[in-house]
Amino acid sequence: MTFIIRQVTLQEIALPLREPFRISSGTVQERRILLVRLEDVDGMVAWGECVAGEAPNYSPETVDTCRHAIRAWLAPLLMGDPIADPALVTPRFDAAVRGHRMAKAALEMPVWALAAERLHESLATRIGGARARIDVGISLGIQASPEVLATKVAAARAAGYNRVKVKIAPGADLQFVAAARAAIGTKIPLSVDANAAYRLEDADHLAQLDSYGLAMIEQPLEPEDLRRHAELQQRLATPICLDESITSPARAEDALAMGSARIVNIKPGRVGGFSAARAIHDVCADQGVPVWCGGMLESGIGRAYNVALASLPNFSLPGDLSPSARYWERDIVQPEWTMDGDGTVEVPRNRPGIGVTVDVDRVDDLTVAREEVQA
Ligand SMILES: [Mg+2]
Repeated sequence: MTFIIRQVTLQEIALPLREPFRISSGTVQERRILLVRLEDVDGMVAWGECVAGEAPNYSPETVDTCRHAIRAWLAPLLMGDPIADPALVTPRFDAAVRGHRMAKAALEMPVWALAAERLHESLATRIGGARARIDVGISLGIQASPEVLATKVAAARAAGYNRVKVKIAPGADLQFVAAARAAIGTKIPLSVDANAAYRLEDADHLAQLDSYGLAMIEQPLEPEDLRRHAELQQRLATPICLDESITSPARAEDALAMGSARIVNIKPGRVGGFSAARAIHDVCADQGVPVWCGGMLESGIGRAYNVALASLPNFSLPGDLSPSARYWERDIVQPEWTMDGDGTVEVPRNRPGIGVTVDVDRVDDLTVAREEVQA
């Protein structure tokens, strides 16, 4: 099943958020998202999404660095030459370009979608997915007070979410977690995500979280600090989950060999696409380490790729796969992603490709920059 990609189009949209999103540098009303449109020589089309943010505060990549990497180096590697297997795209990219994993993923994943479309099968089936439904967890940002957080946790529980994750930072941790713990009840797991806000010197402080029976503490230390994570894990009963640290299959192997984590968060858009994501999944499965799929404030297009990945067998923990309506006034796909009352999302296994239709008119309306990449 060889095919040739004829055209790569970059389309940046500004997608209005349902409610303003507070980040350290200010408040945003809309999310800048770089979309990628692939078209093959037979006129078949697949859309992809780059997960990079506006600023390099999660990873070094941004919307603008990804646009440059795709335009200057990656898209030219994708166009013209026959693609016999989507699994060969990553080696092709990696042979020529170091890093830039979010940019690579934005191109690699829709190649899988295109292959699935051509075979009239779902993306989930194409990549080896087994699940029909996936448990959904919610991620709650740092709130104004423990009381406000408790209200949000109770609402999430009532909505049916199967796991609640609370962002923490120095100065907004123990009291907030205590409030969340009191609000959540005993039926669903509670976890925390520090986004690398702590240092190993905080180990005694973090050990106080052990009394709350958390499912995990995500990324407590700097992404580069595998050895320090291993030391911290020895001092905590709460399992450490790594997110930002896991950039490649080799990195995942190192982290597990060192004992830096007992759980791994895999975001395909962060690690270079499905080839790397599946390899990390397999590394973890071999060692009995459970994985789950995190979110990057994706539109419904990026969500489709996450849902497909999360249908793989070792994604045994709830993923951050909130429905479209949580973030967006209106999504750019139809049907929008929804969550059932039991807190699950359905894997669209009976529809070819990504399983949702891109609302191209809406994408065009929201577009702030569009360019066709020259081969
Ligand atoms: Mg995280």
